[in-house]
Amino acid sequence: MSLIRYKQKRHFTETPEPTGGKGKTGKLIFVVQKHAASHLHYDFRLEMDGVLKSWAVPKGPSLNPDDKRLAMMVEDHPYDYKDFEGNIPEGNYGAGNVIVWDTGTYTTYDGDSDQKALLAGLKKGHITFIMHGKKLKGEFALIKIRNGKQENAWLLVKADDKYASKEDITLKTKSVLSDATLDKLAAKYGNAKGDHGKEAGAPRKAAAKKTATKKAAPPKDAATPRSSSTTKTQSKKKPQP
Ligand code: MN
Repeated sequence: MSLIRYKQKRHFTETPEPTGGKGKTGKLIFVVQKHAASHLHYDFRLEMDGVLKSWAVPKGPSLNPDDKRLAMMVEDHPYDYKDFEGNIPEGNYGAGNVIVWDTGTYTTYDGDSDQKALLAGLKKGHITFIMHGKKLKGEFALIKIRNGKQENAWLLVKADDKYASKEDITLKTKSVLSDATLDKLAAKYGNAKGDHGKEAGAPRKAAAKKTATKKAAPPKDAATPRSSSTTKTQSKKKPQP
């Protein structure tokens, strides 16, 4: 509910990322961003309690109920992040390009948006919800891994409904808000962080490990002076926001 962690990690004079915002429609929204940070990943965000509850999903969502996609819970993001697309400059937390890979509304299982039930489920480590996106439709679940060493590790799983499919939805690479792809943004912003070519399916162990180290390492970037020679190394070491 608090955006303190989000704000601590970022310098808003340097990054174009949003700082706040509030839902107006009464319907809960979701967004899935595709983010070419040091490791390519998808950021899965569900509006809850006025903010976007967020998970970094190294391999991205799947429509196949047999797939269990690792989803590392990260800090809450502000509501206005739902439209954020563009470039987070080098030296900043999560440096790299971002597109809005999918967005839409979501409902709880019985068709409404019972935030109390969602928040209770979040605490218990198990929520199910119905997505009404352009790419993602139907029921999904987020389930916390109980015996894992990683405290923030969850699994994102598609339920077996009429929208279940073996189609690899991540092959659809375009933004749903614009024509942008990460490759296009990489060309536009003159950096090499496009779709990472072969790395698109980057070993998820490595990515998960990086994210998992986040808790142990407090956000140093706030206090670290940034010079162009050190920022590259830093951003490599940084976990995925
Ligand atoms: Mn991210």
